[in-house]
Amino acid sequence: MKIALVYPIFKKNGQYPLLSQNRQFRYSNSKEIRIFPLIMGTAATMLKKQGHEVLFLDAINERLTKEEYEQKLKNFNPELILLETKAPILKITWKHIDYLKEILNSKIALCGDHVSFNPKESFENSKVDFILVGGDYDVGILKLSNSLENKEQLSEGIWFKKEGKIIENGFLPEMKDLDNIPFIDRELTKWKNYGEAYLRKPSMYILSGRGCGGGHYGSGKCTFCIWQHALWKCRARLRSPKNFVDELKYLSEHYKIREVFDDNEAGGVWDKKWVEEVYKEMKEQNLLDKIYISSNARADSLDSKTCKLMKKIGYRLLKIGLESGNNKTLKILNKGETIEEIKEGVKTAKREGMVVLLTTMVGFPWETEEDVKRTYEATKELMLYKTKIGDSLQSSIIMPYPYTPLYKLAEKKGWLIYDAKDYEKLDQTRPILKTKIDTQKWCKKIWAIHTHPLFILKTLFSIRNKNDLELIFRGVKSVIGHLKDY
Ligand code: SF4
Repeated sequence: MKIALVYPIFKKNGQYPLLSQNRQFRYSNSKEIRIFPLIMGTAATMLKKQGHEVLFLDAINERLTKEEYEQKLKNFNPELILLETKAPILKITWKHIDYLKEILNSKIALCGDHVSFNPKESFENSKVDFILVGGDYDVGILKLSNSLENKEQLSEGIWFKKEGKIIENGFLPEMKDLDNIPFIDRELTKWKNYGEAYLRKPSMYILSGRGCGGGHYGSGKCTFCIWQHALWKCRARLRSPKNFVDELKYLSEHYKIREVFDDNEAGGVWDKKWVEEVYKEMKEQNLLDKIYISSNARADSLDSKTCKLMKKIGYRLLKIGLESGNNKTLKILNKGETIEEIKEGVKTAKREGMVVLLTTMVGFPWETEEDVKRTYEATKELMLYKTKIGDSLQSSIIMPYPYTPLYKLAEKKGWLIYDAKDYEKLDQTRPILKTKIDTQKWCKKIWAIHTHPLFILKTLFSIRNKNDLELIFRGVKSVIGHLKDY
């Protein structure tokens, strides 16, 4: 079959949507953020391996015009199109699906977090043919294409319409052994289009697994964490250390990649045994010192022994959710760690030589001005602790997506400012929950820690070479872009 995997171009006021591989959607002025859609990448790879003809068309990150995007799609003339969507652009996606149905003779499938929670409404509001419900939609689209080709019954997790009736068809079964997934075909998926300011170039994205593990609960259960709830059912799977390191070796040797970013929810580092095995594999495959790994991580995974080993492996930057400086908030969010534990984990990682990207949120309905000040202070304290080039932060407005536990709590407590169906309001440009603080002001203030004189001074003193200078240059451009967003 001819199958197109597509991210259409939906710009707003000249800003690009951060859609692919973004848990939190927004439009941004930053030209530096182009995160590679990993599951879509494996979908393209698996389809091609199966013998299908594949077009990987990420018009957002290729920075295509609407006309270029449509022309490419028309020229390819796909029999099947898969689009990923999220709540804030759901209504635009519905319109786009109907438009594509007019100009092409393709079947259209939809995937993503929101439609995994509520597949029905997309059938009711658009001419979509199939919805892949769940996170393993790479396996889902493969099964769908094979079923269509062989005219077989559609398997579990693929919802469809029959004689005008929506056929509810469960959740995509989890692939048990992630080692069975092929390494992503980086040419087919145009790897050069992707990257972020804080990564050493050339860089690529990788997944050590699917779903967040670790913490007090054994797996991530944060009430706002959309993918963990919608796609992974609050479970975690990891690739074997050997399979993970084999891919690193392939990327290092074949593409001379200097850094990978592991965009698994909390990386693989929550599993200490996994870290030990990765180290052994890296050593055995003579890969130590050849490639940097940056990764998402939970702070409570970061004890001194694990950090020492991670440093030896080549871990460089860790993206860690601080969320709030208040234990009350962390408890309501079900974060499974306290601010003291978060500070300890972050400081340990920094002491052991890694740099940290902190993510913070503001605008919780129960937080006061005093509370948000504590978040600001905690963030500042950690940013100024053993500051090195590459330390950075992100600050955003809490955006509970529909059907997440936090959203349900907001409905129950009457915190929602907008109608529950005003999905487009969830684009980070405004709070959607009642709040006692000025969210724009505080986001900007927290972002501005990057410009704190002590932070700048410490960062400058840590510059060691030309690569560091390049990193600083890209980082500054990115921060300016972000500050414009607020
Ligand atoms: S720790 Fe991070 S990835 Fe894990 S559930 Fe919480 S927010 Fe999600």
